[in-house]
Amino acid sequence: MQTRFSQARLADPNIKEVNDILRNCVHCGFCTATCPTYVLLGDELDSPRGRIYLAKNMLESDNPATAQVVKHIDRCLTCLSCMTTCPSGVHYAHLVDQARVHIEKTYVRPLPERFMRWLLATVVPNPTLFRLSLIGGRLGRPFAGLMPGRLKGMVAMAPAKLSAPSSVDKPQVFTAQGPRRKRVALLTGCAQPVLRPEINEATVRLLTRHGCEVVIAEGAGCCGAIVHHMGREEDSRAAARANVAAWTGAIDGGGLDAVVFNASGCGVSLKDYGHLLRNDPEWAAPAARISAMSKDVSELLIDLGLKKPTVATGQAVTYHTACSMQHGLGLRGQSKLLLADAGFEVREPAEGHLCCGSAGTYSILQPELSMRLRDRKVANLEATEPEIIAAGNIGCLTHIGGGTRVPMVHTVELLDWATGGPKPQAIG
Ligand code: SF4
Ligand code: SF4
Repeated sequence: MQTRFSQARLADPNIKEVNDILRNCVHCGFCTATCPTYVLLGDELDSPRGRIYLAKNMLESDNPATAQVVKHIDRCLTCLSCMTTCPSGVHYAHLVDQARVHIEKTYVRPLPERFMRWLLATVVPNPTLFRLSLIGGRLGRPFAGLMPGRLKGMVAMAPAKLSAPSSVDKPQVFTAQGPRRKRVALLTGCAQPVLRPEINEATVRLLTRHGCEVVIAEGAGCCGAIVHHMGREEDSRAAARANVAAWTGAIDGGGLDAVVFNASGCGVSLKDYGHLLRNDPEWAAPAARISAMSKDVSELLIDLGLKKPTVATGQAVTYHTACSMQHGLGLRGQSKLLLADAGFEVREPAEGHLCCGSAGTYSILQPELSMRLRDRKVANLEATEPEIIAAGNIGCLTHIGGGTRVPMVHTVELLDWATGGPKPQAIG
């Protein structure tokens, strides 16, 4: 694709990167067929190629974002299916990041939308505020009918039951069972410990049982994905710096073999810290180091080798591969292999490459498209007649779980149960 950035603008490293990305695109359109929003809407402007053109025109002209550009970029799920499909290696993710930053800086959204985005960016990354908001949401349910659209949707999403905070998520070190094989830091996350504290608990049991010393580092928190996808560049860098500092401290305090995550959506952010902080002389090297040592829990368990099951399993488990897992991290088979090793009968749904519609805050900001994708995903999953549905990302677990009666659990809960842990609550 030809570009027309001036030399002066190309001196900006972000614009230089945009230019390089755009020049890789040969506008073949292969990516359109696997883009969920194009599949639903059939509009070229809701396809990756269409969004690439919109971003190109906006960034080349350096004009303020228009309502049309904002509408179509906002509809993008950041599922990155287009990156898996693209034969030319176009880094759509880094391009849309720059488009979102430009939108955030130049476009004035209507007041209710600004309020909703501020609310999400403030509340979700903070477990205390998020917990309070869910309690508030539960109390506010009877008044949901009086609330404006998206706030109403948010209140409806508050779970009927909320577990107490888990002691696992506090800064501490869990000793390995038997000889120590690895020392790893675990990202406990922000929304996950509030919505499903049993996932981190199962992860710690599973990893210590497999010979890992598990560090919950002081100062580590939200990965920054929520604010990053809203174009809040400085907020996402601040989250990245806090985590890099926390895990660098853990490295200095006893060494680390890996930083482990159990939410693939967060993992994509961790893997990108090196890129996010690349122009920051103080943080670029430590951030790149943390990105290089970050691993999904399934990758680590494949390295360690799963212990033999201690209970009779055999249930039919349909595995939902999160977009962040398959398109963001390029991990497609690890969790299914582990579940099969643990004795489960693993099934796969049709249209596995398509997003479930969760996508961070997308389900709140784009509720109509999000629900259409969820219903389609649930139909495909249920068609496999599973006894259990498993996934490795909290967003998908909550979103899909709201549309099916089939129990939904995180992969680590099943692996923990199979190798000596308690049976997951969700499967009774
Ligand atoms: S598949 Fe890749 S090269 Fe082709 S239009 Fe899409 S982004 Fe451009
Ligand atoms: S990230 Fe997903 S929704 Fe966005 S353009 Fe690519 S395929 Fe479409």
